[in-house]
Amino acid sequence: MDLYKRIKEELEQAKKNKVYNNIKILESKQSDMIKVDSKNFINMCSNNYLGYASDPLVIKAVKKSIKKYGVGPGAVRTISGSFDIHDEFEKRLAQFKGFEATLVVQSGFQANTGLIPTITTVDDLIISDQLNHASIIDGVRLSKAQRTVFKHLDMEDLEAVLKENRPNIKGNIFIITDGVFSMDGDIAPLDKINVLAKKYKAYTIVDDAHGEGVIGPQGRGSVAYFGLEGQIDIETGTMSKAFGLVGGFISGKKELIEYLKQNSRVFKFSSSLPQQFAEAGLAVLNQLEKDDSRLKKLWENTKYLQNKFIENGFSIGTTQTPITPLMVGDEATATELTKILFKNNILVSPIIYPTVPKGKARIRLMLSSLHTKQELDKVFDIISTEYRKIIKKQK
Ligand code: PMP
Repeated sequence: MDLYKRIKEELEQAKKNKVYNNIKILESKQSDMIKVDSKNFINMCSNNYLGYASDPLVIKAVKKSIKKYGVGPGAVRTISGSFDIHDEFEKRLAQFKGFEATLVVQSGFQANTGLIPTITTVDDLIISDQLNHASIIDGVRLSKAQRTVFKHLDMEDLEAVLKENRPNIKGNIFIITDGVFSMDGDIAPLDKINVLAKKYKAYTIVDDAHGEGVIGPQGRGSVAYFGLEGQIDIETGTMSKAFGLVGGFISGKKELIEYLKQNSRVFKFSSSLPQQFAEAGLAVLNQLEKDDSRLKKLWENTKYLQNKFIENGFSIGTTQTPITPLMVGDEATATELTKILFKNNILVSPIIYPTVPKGKARIRLMLSSLHTKQELDKVFDIISTEYRKIIKKQK
């Protein structure tokens, strides 16, 4: 079939099925409030957990960096070189995360796709949590290794997979998991995964995109949350969430990072993280170490809103973090509720198939330290009234 005919049909079908994503145009900075269509909305769909995305501290760091280093990185680092700020930030980030060394790349997606195929071979096996992020799935797809999944958070299943496969695998086994799962907000049991990894001689890789800045002392992330510094082999992460920036990283042993610099296609063939983001990342890191008041506020807001939902009989799934999935079931309800909330100046994103399985649609509310109690009260009041109206209409 003609390409454009097929594409058009698919787009029309998505609109008919009410799963077409209308991307909103933002007219102000990322904060607790945000302007869309010249109107101000309570912003419940940003990963700006600690409010750094538009913080004066970050803006100052970016300005300072642009003055010194300009804007563009020139080329890939193997050709044009690394800026000293890249090196400084990588060293500091490694310390913060409890690893020997770190490599920064352009995004969290690039971290997973730059790591997984580079360190795995045909003789290896990758064992992945069933609900791992798309960037891990794509990293695995790019790898030549054998692959399998274990049931989400299910340690019995993970052990069964390890037991069955260990005798047949000539190479290495890698267990890969999100630290915090982005759609459900639940935390991977890294303590138990670590025990199984040691028992079956497997390596562990944790993607801590939603853990860093959010859990663990000073927001050091999932590994620190379990007190497993030095135990987990490799971590990938992003600066697009609690750091309020953009950029990704891979942390591990010194020789691993050296190997990635020589061999990772993402590092060798794609221009580096812009230097101003390394500078801004360093500013955020300094602040995280100095002052945990934003982290405390984030958790205070999280408990406040989540308790309201729970006390009033709503399901927010199995979340253990500020990711708050209001489970509504079918795709059409999620889409309708999103539209009604939009009319009430509340910005949320419906999470629907294929991002989550059919029938598990949800409105994902993302908490930030910037939200006020009044804003959260309004969000809860409108959701509870409007959601109940939809349910009544459906009956
Ligand atoms: N891993 C996880 C678990 C994520 O949630 C995300 C962000 N959606 C990424 C990786 C990708 O990060 P980035 O946006 O920096 O590419």
